[in-house]
Amino acid sequence: MARIDLKSMTIEELQDFMSELGEPKFRAKQIFEWLHKKMVNSVDDMTNISKSLRIKLSENTKISGVKIVQKLQSQKDGTTKYLFALDNDNLIESVLMRYSYGNAVCVSSQAGCRMGCSFCASTLNGLEYNLLAGEILSQIYEIQKDIGERVSSVVIMGSGEPLDNYDNVIKFIRILNSPMGLDIGQRHITLSTCGLVDGINRLRDEDLQITLAVSLHAPNDDIRRQIMPVAKKYDITRLLNACKLYSDSTKRRITFEYAMIRGVNDSRECAVELASRLKNMLCHVNLIPVNDVKERNYVRSGESAINDFAAVLNSKGIETTIRRKLGSDINAACGQLRRGYLKK
Ligand code: SAH
Repeated sequence: MARIDLKSMTIEELQDFMSELGEPKFRAKQIFEWLHKKMVNSVDDMTNISKSLRIKLSENTKISGVKIVQKLQSQKDGTTKYLFALDNDNLIESVLMRYSYGNAVCVSSQAGCRMGCSFCASTLNGLEYNLLAGEILSQIYEIQKDIGERVSSVVIMGSGEPLDNYDNVIKFIRILNSPMGLDIGQRHITLSTCGLVDGINRLRDEDLQITLAVSLHAPNDDIRRQIMPVAKKYDITRLLNACKLYSDSTKRRITFEYAMIRGVNDSRECAVELASRLKNMLCHVNLIPVNDVKERNYVRSGESAINDFAAVLNSKGIETTIRRKLGSDINAACGQLRRGYLKK
């Protein structure tokens, strides 16, 4: 049987585990702080825990982690892309972005992905593995240790569909947010989904204050179904209704991501249609010039098309920004570094 992973346990789970072992409750807090504040990767480092408990733990549990395989630093903007190996040798990517307001990390929630979006490199080989909470946390911990600076915000926007690995991702968020761990505020955590409506509805009931980002990428079902298979399961009306309910109940503004693909979804008509869809919603649109993926024939929209698209939305009262491209010289787009590495 697989060993239980200490790093993936919430404080409540650790407390239950300690009482099963006949240990006092405060041990749970000590262990939790070693793992999530001091970010150690071995029970041997937990020096205030008795030798006998340490032996028990090393015989019956594991501590998940990730190891740096490769690191690419952008010469343009300080963005750093990390290629990590999991204990099972799966490879995943994370990105460190340096902003004036602090360090942000983009984490992966799955190795590979089964959503099949046609413009995305992460999905080309399907889903390989669902990351444990501890493995998602470790991406942040190893980066924080590597740079010797605090990470202040996190986006779950690396490879994988977080709502397709629901339980592990929710645990990840709760541990990341814990005052006994890194204590990253919920409002500094963004979860990005391709639009799994059932998952969005479940998330609404978690009573979290995180930001929800939804990869919309099209103003209607026709176009959306051409580029995102998930749109065949959930139509855009259902998706936007779920988003509306989410923002109504959390009072949080939703971010709609829209990858601009030349000749596919970047016309003026698309912008007008999108604006009417999003009318009266507490939201904001982020236009992303698509990163060319060689395996597909998609080309980024021209700068003027992107500016015009944003102007139409803004003029109709939909607040729209154009994503600044960070790390364009280091394959910082979804799944590109990992894919390059796997091909070798
Ligand atoms: N599965 C989640 C999160 C991971 S993808 C989601 O779909 O939101 C993170 C974001 O990058 C999504 O908006 C995704 O659509 C976008 N993306 C994927 N490939 C891209 C590419 N080649 N160019 C630009 N954005 C891309």
